[in-house]
Amino acid sequence: MPVDAEPNAPAASAGGILTIDLAALAENYRRLRDHVGPGVTCAAAVKADAYGLGAARVVPELHRAGCRTFFVAHLAEGAAIRPLLGADSTIFVLNGPMPGTEAAMRQAGLVPVLNSLEQIANWRALAHQTGTPLPAALQLDSGMSRFGLSDADVATLLSEDTPLAGLTPLLVMSHLACADEPAHPANRAQRTTFLRLRAQLPALPASLAASSGLFLGPDWHFDMVRPGAALYGINPTPGQPNPMLPVVRLQARIVQTRQIGPGTAVGYGAGFIADRPSRIATLGVGYGDGFPRAIGGHGHAILPERPDLRLPIVGRISMDCLAVDVTALGDTPLAPGTALDLIGPHHSLEDAAEAAGTIGYELLTGLGRRYHRIYRADASPQGDNR
Ligand SMILES: *Cc1c(COP(=O)(O)O)cnc(C)c1O
Repeated sequence: MPVDAEPNAPAASAGGILTIDLAALAENYRRLRDHVGPGVTCAAAVKADAYGLGAARVVPELHRAGCRTFFVAHLAEGAAIRPLLGADSTIFVLNGPMPGTEAAMRQAGLVPVLNSLEQIANWRALAHQTGTPLPAALQLDSGMSRFGLSDADVATLLSEDTPLAGLTPLLVMSHLACADEPAHPANRAQRTTFLRLRAQLPALPASLAASSGLFLGPDWHFDMVRPGAALYGINPTPGQPNPMLPVVRLQARIVQTRQIGPGTAVGYGAGFIADRPSRIATLGVGYGDGFPRAIGGHGHAILPERPDLRLPIVGRISMDCLAVDVTALGDTPLAPGTALDLIGPHHSLEDAAEAAGTIGYELLTGLGRRYHRIYRADASPQGDNR
């Protein structure tokens, strides 16, 4: 059963309920760690509030599961989780320090990923000022043209007499653009570029793979992998069975139901018009909850007792509600408050994302603050609701 529900949004009044299975999260971490084996560090990407699931709950759970290396995108995200972790853990900040925030980065006990010559120079300047070497990761651009030192940058850096003086480099890293397409030639090409650039620098632990890269095979593991999505149940191997456990369930509760006749319109813009006598349920979740407006007319909901029936979302998504055609349920009683799954055991995150024309990553990180959140810590991910 649900444990420690958040106090100020009682389940009884909420329009939507977001259940996050911390036991499944921990199991996913262990699966990924076991997949790469004992010689490889399994870090965790917890940026964007742990992909929308709540870093304050996710980070301590991952630490309990054995994770000691965390990646966030911004200083503020790192500062928020630093107090949750002891000195045994390292928090890398992927975007590196914005100019002028180097001292704050150090003060917060965070390790920047240095992506450009400017970031390196500014971090070294702080080390020089304080008289202490400062830890950092170095990012190389292996072909994504997003973050990291290019070939030319590496040459410029190495033309200095003591290019890394003042730094304690902990890691050299890069990121794959096409890891979710195993046959894509960019994967090999990026790996080759990474090896070539890395060979010019002092020997350092290396990291290239995130969730999907981790499943490309041991050639991509190096010394550390940095999964995010897979921890949260997103399929890292699209097109193949999902090797991860689902972590998120999203339920929307019925506010009211009505019978309508043929020709009757539903929602803004009369976006749906019934072509037969229909039973419509209005659910208390809308785009104001981060449930994508683009899913209107495409997605479906499921009554857990009837997983065989896909109940179509009809008409446009409103800010605070959406409409579902529940005609297929016949006269099954649907009391106000009844919860239908928008994401659940019979309705994957990927399916919902696809119906909205997006990916699981965007759907998760967009899920708003308005849901009643339940963090399940039951020992078994095969608990009552799965
Ligand atoms: C977001 C991110 C990750 C995690 O990626 P997933 O695909 O979610 O596993 C790892 N490394 C970098 C540099 C990232 O930006």
